Amino acid sequence: MVFSSSHLSVDLHIHSTASDGTLSPAEILSQAAQAGLSAISITDHDTIDGVRAALSAGIPEGLGFISGVEISAAHPPDFPCRGSLHILGYGISVDHDDLNRDLRKLQNARSERNPSIVRRLNRLGIDITLEEVLEIAGSGQAGRPHIAEALIRKNYAADVDDAFGRYLGTGKPAYVDKYRIPSADAIAMIQKAGGAAVLAHPGLILPSGEWPLDAMITELKLCGLDGIEVFYPEHSHDCTRRLQAFAERLQLLITGGTDFHGDLKPEMSLGYASGGFSVPFSCFKNLESLVSRRVP
Ligand code: AMP
Ligand code: ZN
Ligand code: FE
Ligand code: FE
Repeated sequence: MVFSSSHLSVDLHIHSTASDGTLSPAEILSQAAQAGLSAISITDHDTIDGVRAALSAGIPEGLGFISGVEISAAHPPDFPCRGSLHILGYGISVDHDDLNRDLRKLQNARSERNPSIVRRLNRLGIDITLEEVLEIAGSGQAGRPHIAEALIRKNYAADVDDAFGRYLGTGKPAYVDKYRIPSADAIAMIQKAGGAAVLAHPGLILPSGEWPLDAMITELKLCGLDGIEVFYPEHSHDCTRRLQAFAERLQLLITGGTDFHGDLKPEMSLGYASGGFSVPFSCFKNLESLVSRRVP
C-alpha cells in the first residue's frame, strides 16, 4: 500500500460495540474509509473482540489498520490518584495466550463490578436492573456508559455527563472501584504480545493546571512506555504543545485519536473533531514501524 500525502489523517482511538461504542467494527471500517481516513485503530476497553471482528470482516482497500486495546490500569505507586490510567496497546498479536488470559481477568473484574453499581443505585431508590443494562450493552462488554444509558431511558439523568456527575463518576454515590492491573504490568503485557504501549489522553489525568504529569510520564517511561497520546480533542492547545515537546525530549512516540464512541459522544466524528482537530499520518507510520521491530 502506498501513502503519498503528508496531510492524510488517521484515528488511533476508537471504541466499537465490543465495549461502549455504538458502531460495530464493520461499520467503523466502512465509515472510516468513507470519511477518507488513511488509517485507524479500534481500541476497546480491556477487549480485543472488536479488533478480531474487524479483521474477519476484512479491512477496506487503502485503509491502514493496526490492532488496539485500551487497558484500565492503576497509577504508578508514587502517584496515587483515584480512577484509572488508560494505557493503549497497539499492534498486539490478537492470538497471544498471555494477553488473552490477562484481558479475561480484566473483563471478569468489570462484570463483577456492574451488579454492585446497580445495587448501589437501587439502594438510592433508583429502579433499574442489571438485565436492562446488559440488554443495552448487547453482545459487547457492559460498562458505566451502558448504566448511564439505562438511567437516561428511565429519566433518572438528562444525559451521559449528568449520569456520571450525579451517580457514576469517581466518588459519586453509585461509584464502585474495580481491580486495576498495575501500570507497569499493563505495559509489559502489551509489549510481550508484540505491541507498543501508549499513555492515553495524558491531559485528562490531573485537574487542569497541574503539571507533575511529566514526573509520572517519566516514571512510566522507566517501565517501558513507548509513547503518549498527544493529539486528543479535549487537550487544549497549550497542553498539546507541552505534551509534544515532552514526548520529543523523552523520545516517546506521539499518537492521537478522537476517542470516538458513536452516539455516546455525538460531538465527535471518526477522525475529526471541532476546531479542525485531526491526527497526522506520521503517528500511524511511526507506530507501525516500532511494532514491526517487536516480535511477540
Ligand atoms: P468504565 O469502563 O465502565 O469504567 O466506563 C468508562 C467510560 O465511561 C469511558 O468510555 C468514558 O468515556 C466514560 N466516562 C468516564 N467518566 C465520564 C464522565 N464524567 N462523563 C461522561 N463519560 C464518562
Ligand atoms: Zn469508553
Ligand atoms: Fe480512556
Ligand atoms: Fe477511550
